[in-house]
Amino acid sequence: DTNGIAILVPGALHAHAAKRIDERFRLIAIDKADASLVTPEIARDVRGVASMTSINAAFIDALPNLEVIAHFGVGYDSVDAAHAGRRDVMVTNTPDVLTDEVADTAVALLINTLRELPKAEAWLREGRWEREGGYRFSRGSLRGRRVGIFGMGRIGQAIARRLEGFGLPIAYHNRRQVEGVPYAYHDSLLGLAGAVDTLINVAPGGASTARAVNAEVLRALGADGVLVNIGRGSTVDQEALIAALADGTIFAAGLDVFADEPHVPEALLALENTSLLPHIGSASVATREAMADLLADNLVAWFTDGKPLTPVAETVHVSR
Ligand code: NDP
Repeated sequence: DTNGIAILVPGALHAHAAKRIDERFRLIAIDKADASLVTPEIARDVRGVASMTSINAAFIDALPNLEVIAHFGVGYDSVDAAHAGRRDVMVTNTPDVLTDEVADTAVALLINTLRELPKAEAWLREGRWEREGGYRFSRGSLRGRRVGIFGMGRIGQAIARRLEGFGLPIAYHNRRQVEGVPYAYHDSLLGLAGAVDTLINVAPGGASTARAVNAEVLRALGADGVLVNIGRGSTVDQEALIAALADGTIFAAGLDVFADEPHVPEALLALENTSLLPHIGSASVATREAMADLLADNLVAWFTDGKPLTPVAETVHVSR
């Protein structure tokens, strides 16, 4: 029986995830993941955390009986998973169930960036087609492009399969070459950027990728270069990107993620050669519900079988 087990939910959580937790466990909600909000009762009782916000080391340390952190999302750079692993706290995320949705969004964002489809639709909606004539021809096109994928993991491979169908050559950079994929491997991001004109970032955030897409990488991408960022804002040097877009170092950018969300710098909004989305990569009703179910299923699996469904790499060694 799991009904007595206290699961702490700091901040907002997907309603279906909260409902599933409430049915199976004792849900305790607090405003945010802040150690100062942990009462002695919470510290004594809480064995699980379910959240979509940042979880730092101090918050983990404030919960001495914590066993598992179930994170909503595949990217868990906002959770100090290394610290959790050292404290023998399991961390789970929500991979796979969102892969196709995010890959679809990445391809749409790439096409929007090149063919200006959102701007063309706005032209129609503003009545300008009827008053002024057709929308201008887009300067960009997908035709003839060479695609580089930074982060050839689950989502990177799903994007690559889609773009193969568009007839485009694919190359990639990871720290390690992926067995069994037919795409050209580059052992550096700079090398990849120099070999392609269309760079799609879908690598995880965190220290190992922080500002990896910098001024030098953008220069290597070149004047026809397009950057699509569907991974994390932290991976791109946003100031360098704004400068490169403004002075023609690269041609355009499509961004779903930003350095300091939900703040989007005025300079990015003002640029004509950007297509911008409010971090909606996985955000369909169906996919978000599947993520909520996987989060809840991870908690149930941990407290019934002692084995979660999708542990993150830093905590695979943790057992009950
Ligand atoms: P995976 O773990 O399957 O893939 C990540 C890939 O990135 C791996 O192939 C890994 O290879 C590579 N990688 C990791 N670190 C580095 C590094 N330092 N340098 C080079 N390559 C690196 O994750 P997913 O494909 O499932 O998800 C990828 C990311 O997409 C998430 O972490 C998340 O941040 C982002 N995302 C964004 C969404 C949105 O709404 N915009 C939605 C969902 C995900 P290797 O270890 O060999 O380096």
